[in-house]
Amino acid sequence: MVKDLTVDMVVKNCKLVSPRSVVEGGVAIDDGIVVAVSKTPNLPRADVTIDAGGKVVLPGVLDGHAHTSSPPEDSRTGTRAAAHGGVTTILDMPGTQVGVFSPEQFEKKKELYAATSYVDFALHGACASGYPEGTLTGMWELGATGLKFFLSSAGPKWPQTFDGEVVERFKELATVDGLAIIHAENDHILRYNWDRLKEAGRRDYAAHLEWRPPMAEIEAGQRVIYYLKETGVKGLIAHTSLPETVWNVKRARLEGVQVYVETCPQYLYLTAEDVKKKGPWVKFAPPARSKETVSETWRLLQRGLIDIVSTDHAPYSKEAKEAGLKDMLAAPNGVPGLETLLPLLLTGVNEGHLGLEMLAAVVSENPARIFGIYPKKGVLLPGSDGDLVIVDLKQRKRIRNEELLTACGWSPYEGYEVVGMPTLSVIRGNVVLEEGEVVGHEGLGRFIHRLSP
Ligand code: ZN
Ligand code: ZN
Repeated sequence: MVKDLTVDMVVKNCKLVSPRSVVEGGVAIDDGIVVAVSKTPNLPRADVTIDAGGKVVLPGVLDGHAHTSSPPEDSRTGTRAAAHGGVTTILDMPGTQVGVFSPEQFEKKKELYAATSYVDFALHGACASGYPEGTLTGMWELGATGLKFFLSSAGPKWPQTFDGEVVERFKELATVDGLAIIHAENDHILRYNWDRLKEAGRRDYAAHLEWRPPMAEIEAGQRVIYYLKETGVKGLIAHTSLPETVWNVKRARLEGVQVYVETCPQYLYLTAEDVKKKGPWVKFAPPARSKETVSETWRLLQRGLIDIVSTDHAPYSKEAKEAGLKDMLAAPNGVPGLETLLPLLLTGVNEGHLGLEMLAAVVSENPARIFGIYPKKGVLLPGSDGDLVIVDLKQRKRIRNEELLTACGWSPYEGYEVVGMPTLSVIRGNVVLEEGEVVGHEGLGRFIHRLSP
């Protein structure tokens, strides 16, 4: 420590959280990079000093699975919502309307976000049917943090891949040690149920649950783990709603398969009963499950068996969702989540479901490692980006649609009381969130190219 050095920023009096500890101290940031982490009295002088007042400070928070370019959201509104939620880096998925299926589309999206994003961003590409060999590795070379695959239909604008092609593309991705991110539901079961429910004239809320039963998700998860094992590619099973898949991933990992698993707040806070009551506002895929399943998912999360918690932020408009009030199957699948990720998980901390260390693991360090951007992101260590989030664990708030910045203007958690809010965030030494308000600007966010392999 050079004590007479003056740095750009010091954040002092923090409870610094990492997956291994919660320690009192502070962070010094210079030129956007962490230059010291130490006890508060040992920190250097700074041009800007922020006193965290003894509050909890997380390393920069990552959302590993956001669709911020899905209308009515765009890169500007979506990344501003991320900033509002205390997220400092998004790993953006292709929009549900606009794909990122080729290196050209990847580059275009990167330029758009570099000009408009409020937070740092990395980009996932996607695998659609009919693209030549070299397309996925091309996106990987451009810095993609993962490539999204569907084992079921992803919608009309996304040419569907069936298993033969999926396996070939896994082999291609394995040549660059790439990461496949998989939406795992059994296409045959979904299609059969869809036809059956349509034929029976089913329009009720429960039809969504019957369309996509647990069996479809568990089977596809098992099958994809087998494909990963045979092709040697790394995989992340996205938005898991079921403990069976978590255990299957754990078992495979013990056998040496490089497979990870993600869940989302909607699988921790919403149940099948909510689907039956609220319909399209809690319609997403895979669907919400039973109360017992949700409790078990919390337990697995706290035991460290779930690697990542991401939002799967899919902000469909109110109008699109309202179609589901009369015909549940007509509403699109997806809910916004960027602004409620941290408040909900902090509420989980307050309710004793989750320790602060595990929170730092699943929203910061683990996603940074799995997506290959650690230790630039995901940790507060000298040399890392100066990203952090101060949270007020005691702040109570009722989630209100009108207070959200997402362009969709609604939340499945409208009216929920949360305890614990992000109050201030810093991205590379820039204050982006202050007293819960976004003070950063568009274009501040930078593209984060994958570091490894
Ligand atoms: Zn998905
Ligand atoms: Zn998604």
